[in-house]
Amino acid sequence: MTDYNLYRGSIFHCIEDGGNVEPVYFPDGLMVVSKGRIVEVGEYSELSAKFSSEKSIVHFKDSLIMPGFIDSHIHYPQYKVISSYGTSLLEWLNKYTFVEEQKFSDIDYATKVAELFLDELLINGTTTAMTFCTSHKQSVDVFYDAAEKRNLRMIAGKVMMDRNAPDELCDDIESSYADSKSLIEKWHNKGRLSYAVTPRFAPTSTEGQLIQAAKLLKEYPNTKSAKGVLLQTHLNENSDEIDWVKELYPQSKNYFDVYDNLGLSGTNSVFGHCIHNSTDEYKRMAETNSKVALCPTSNLFLGSGLFALDELEQHGINVALASDVGGGDSFSMFDVMNQAYKICRLNDYNLDPVKAFYLTTLAAAKVLNMSDCLGNFESNKEADFIVLDLNATELLAQRLKTAKNINDLLFCLMTLGDDRLVSKVYIFGQCAYQK
Ligand SMILES: [Zn+2]
Repeated sequence: MTDYNLYRGSIFHCIEDGGNVEPVYFPDGLMVVSKGRIVEVGEYSELSAKFSSEKSIVHFKDSLIMPGFIDSHIHYPQYKVISSYGTSLLEWLNKYTFVEEQKFSDIDYATKVAELFLDELLINGTTTAMTFCTSHKQSVDVFYDAAEKRNLRMIAGKVMMDRNAPDELCDDIESSYADSKSLIEKWHNKGRLSYAVTPRFAPTSTEGQLIQAAKLLKEYPNTKSAKGVLLQTHLNENSDEIDWVKELYPQSKNYFDVYDNLGLSGTNSVFGHCIHNSTDEYKRMAETNSKVALCPTSNLFLGSGLFALDELEQHGINVALASDVGGGDSFSMFDVMNQAYKICRLNDYNLDPVKAFYLTTLAAAKVLNMSDCLGNFESNKEADFIVLDLNATELLAQRLKTAKNINDLLFCLMTLGDDRLVSKVYIFGQCAYQK
């Protein structure tokens, strides 16, 4: 006999219908979960009879059940770099980030931060993330250990960095390849874990190192039976960075061409930021089916610039939203959506609330090649979901009294919401966090 768990409440998720993003909303819904996977979602009035013989229903009153957030670009070692004052990207890296990342040579320190980081993700309703580690191999091992204990679906990678950083953080061409390869062999596709090849960005890698990164992508491609490794790095975040790349790679047509020319573009590659892309770069990213993680809170915090979501979409590039902690000043994807909305307003168009939630759930799953198992409540997907308390704050409760429809409700959540709303987090069908 199948063992079902039943959850009643308002339910929301996004589906794609012929390329269009559609919200699915059940004001009084029922979600059926079995063995960590979604069986069915629907109206309570229709579904409840079918499962009436099952054990008692968990009823979340005045709550919204939705898929867990997916953060497609974040740095777990920057947990304590968050909220560092007064600099733009390159100075921020030297003054704060490279100082903190050196502490991860201490395995106990790295372990402690990995646990704190995963706690903070869950508190904010983020159930999957793709994170940079440091250049220390053990910084990846301790992260995967911590994620595996919690049965989280996580993606991580050792930073490859062989120049323009403190000696203590620099690897070299051979060791970065060998360490990455042994981590892939140990962790990639182990349970719910996957690996991302992680050159930090073009300024801190020699061409030789980027060639080795591309070699790893080729050695672990997507096959019928297994997913290949991903690639995560940064692109066109800051104007000084772009000028620097021109100096370091004078033969390249543009910044994206550095990666593209060396074999690092493609469907498994996720480029953070892409604020200052040229038209040629948008076109080439689309041609290679490369993916983008947009980081609005980070871009505003560091003063990096305003991304052009409309241009990315016009070029048909797959995009997701991301926190980029610690350049980003918040773990909350509500805050990320809120700032994304404002960046679009400054560019004189609107970010539709359904689209915003899509970009932090199903679209993010697509960017990470995980839409077969994550991102919404289609049957047989993994039951990573969150329960939002719609009365978490008095202001939200009062404002929602006049919300007319799901779009209005979602817009209130993304502008007024934060971690106070997240009352429960379920990981593979098990409650992993309760406020
Ligand atoms: Zn980043």
